Amino acid sequence: MKPESSQMNGSLGPMRVLVTGGSGLVGRAIERLVKEEGENRKGEEWIFLTSKDANLLSAEETRAAFEKHRPTHVIHLAAMVGGLFRNMRQNLDFWRNNVFINDNVLKAAHEFGALKVVSCLSTCIFPDKTAYPIDETMIHNGPPHESNFGYAYAKRMIDVQNRALFQQYGLRYTAVIPTNVFGPHDNFNIEDGHVLPGLIHKTYLAKKEGKPLQVWGSGRALRQFIYSLDLARLFVWVLREYDEVEPIILSVGEEDEVSIKFAADAVVEALGFRGDVIYDTSKSDGQFKKTASNAKLRKYLPDFKFTPFKQAIQETCDWFVANYDSARK
Ligand code: NAP
Ligand code: GDP
Repeated sequence: MKPESSQMNGSLGPMRVLVTGGSGLVGRAIERLVKEEGENRKGEEWIFLTSKDANLLSAEETRAAFEKHRPTHVIHLAAMVGGLFRNMRQNLDFWRNNVFINDNVLKAAHEFGALKVVSCLSTCIFPDKTAYPIDETMIHNGPPHESNFGYAYAKRMIDVQNRALFQQYGLRYTAVIPTNVFGPHDNFNIEDGHVLPGLIHKTYLAKKEGKPLQVWGSGRALRQFIYSLDLARLFVWVLREYDEVEPIILSVGEEDEVSIKFAADAVVEALGFRGDVIYDTSKSDGQFKKTASNAKLRKYLPDFKFTPFKQAIQETCDWFVANYDSARK
């Protein structure tokens, strides 16, 4: 009798999934989901890799990790990641580190016979000057926003590599394109992190110290935010069910796009902050908007329910307060 897992992955043995970047925001959300699924994921073995297990900047260490684990499937999350202001300071590092990590991982996956790899792009890699809403066909249509061109071009090359791997070897490696992600285990570092973990940390400190909250930029820029636990469910669906090489945008709808001011107000409310909120317009707004269409996702999963934004913000703030000492900051 064939093992049950053969129905899930179309291969002969159990599905062994290697998750790179397993200690990050998205990796920890996937780990929690997989744990919660428990019995329902018969025939799947999951391995969550961190930089301590293998520095993926090194081709040798990457090969050694793949040789050791021999994954049939890979979720590739590991990357140099940062918010707008870190990107503006370190375009060269974002370009080089991410190009090396991605090439090492995709090459080792191919070499050690992984059947499927799902890598991670981002809606901030799309052209700056574009029609809206952005869709999956537009990735290479023009230069990205100048603030993060290093990260953006490095991420775009994953799509190039996936298409070339399909053309030359028939491999069905793909990528997802999430919007701004937030949730427990985020990087709450104020200088380096993304807007929501930055605002949560700053609001926490402003409340503790009785000082005003400084929001950077005008507050008018628009973003679609996805809760890491929703993204985890979609990521695992892509791994198990999605068969295209073409990437897929994983986002809330266009109608759920919010201003930075709306997001800041939600954080203020969730943390019960009653002090002044100041907008520092000497700081950049970054890309004004990157409104993405989730029509392709909705065609596959018309009934998927996203966690309401304010509920997800409340859960993330509660997590940060409860884990303040150990949180990444
Ligand atoms: P994160 O919290 O910063 O986690 C990054 C992960 O990458 C960590 O597990 C880290 O390992 C690992 N990593 C970094 N450099 C490495 C190296 N040289 N060798 C091995 N591992 C390394 O990032 P995230 O927010 O979860 O992002 C996951 C993926 O989603 C990334 O590909 C990112 O580009 C993409 N994405 C993120 C967002 C967002 O808003 N956060 C939006 C769109 C797309 P250690 O913990 O051991 O350092
Ligand atoms: P982006 O979505 O790739 O641009 O990256 P971020 O997640 O860093 O979001 C940047 C947007 O949030 C810009 O419009 C910033 O002006 C605004 N913002 C407001 N306060 C903060 C903050 O404390 N940290 C960060 N990173 N951005 C902030």
